[in-house]
Amino acid sequence: MSSAPDQRIARVREALANAGADWLLIPASADFAWLTGGHARATERLVLFALPRTGTPWGLVPKLEAEALAAECPWLELEVWEEHEDPVARLAGRIQLDRRPTLLLGEGFRTGPLLTLAARAICRPAAPVLAPLRACKDAAELARLETAGRHADQVMAETAAMLRPGLTERQVSRFICDRFESLGDHDPWAIVAAGPNAAFPHHMSSTRTLADGEVVLLDLGAYHEGYGSDITRTFWLGRPPEGFAAVYGTVNEARAAGIAAARAGVPAAAVDAAARSVIERAGYGPSFVHRTGHGVGLEIHEPPYLVAGNQALLLAGMVHSVEPGIYLPGRFGVRLEDLVVVEPGGGRRLNHAPLAPALGTPAPQRVAG
Ligand code: ZN
Ligand code: ZN
Repeated sequence: MSSAPDQRIARVREALANAGADWLLIPASADFAWLTGGHARATERLVLFALPRTGTPWGLVPKLEAEALAAECPWLELEVWEEHEDPVARLAGRIQLDRRPTLLLGEGFRTGPLLTLAARAICRPAAPVLAPLRACKDAAELARLETAGRHADQVMAETAAMLRPGLTERQVSRFICDRFESLGDHDPWAIVAAGPNAAFPHHMSSTRTLADGEVVLLDLGAYHEGYGSDITRTFWLGRPPEGFAAVYGTVNEARAAGIAAARAGVPAAAVDAAARSVIERAGYGPSFVHRTGHGVGLEIHEPPYLVAGNQALLLAGMVHSVEPGIYLPGRFGVRLEDLVVVEPGGGRRLNHAPLAPALGTPAPQRVAG
């Protein structure tokens, strides 16, 4: 991005005035990327974007990263600090900390600067201001999320076709990450959970070997030009374990119910309730141990959260997952996940990877690309 993301800054500035704040301070984070179009690494060296209620925004950046940020954000005035300097002192001078300003602080501050600011200014979280703005994606963001979703579908289908007994979870995970990188995506990740490991919702892929008769849960994603993908499928090798078909059918029905409930104007909690009620009716309520979904954008987990109690309304342009699951410790787990774009008439799926062949098919999934 070569010019300032003016529209975003204008909207944030308006929210800043409404909140009665003097400054918005955003350390290296997804919010930083969203507001500046530049990338800053979150390290011990303080980097931040500073937006005053009126006047010119600027960035505080260590010298060794100044050139890279200047190239990405030529419009942004930079306050460059040297290695021997105290960046918090530089910041304090620029925002007149001695006058006890009101600050909106983004996620990602280290404890040291955070406590200094908290002691000398009126500090509030910036999330209530930024999150609703970031949650509704514009056309360019949606295009990136759509491409990311297509890539994830392709990698899922290719992975389904290569699963076989004898591979380790890590080998499958490496295959997934390699495929994403070959498609040009960055920072790929994968949860590969075989057998009883599939009952752990956030299992870390291990050296466990896939075996015949087992469930294999694949949850994977990467980033396309900064925007994430996230998809889950549950497959099986040979004959699935006892009771699997009923559990799988219930989760798939819950997935469909959640997607059908996603629509602009409905509370986020309604999507959770739609998916959860299917699982509860089938008697597996206590085994669905997490929320039904989360927003996806510059971050894999971001608002809106589809969870009981969240009465915030879904708005057109939001992108979120629908990912019900049933986890039976010691046996297996099933989760199915698609991303949807919230539209006035309903949820439009970003994922179309085949779920699985009909239950009872003896061989692992041979799916059309
Ligand atoms: Zn996922
Ligand atoms: Zn997810």
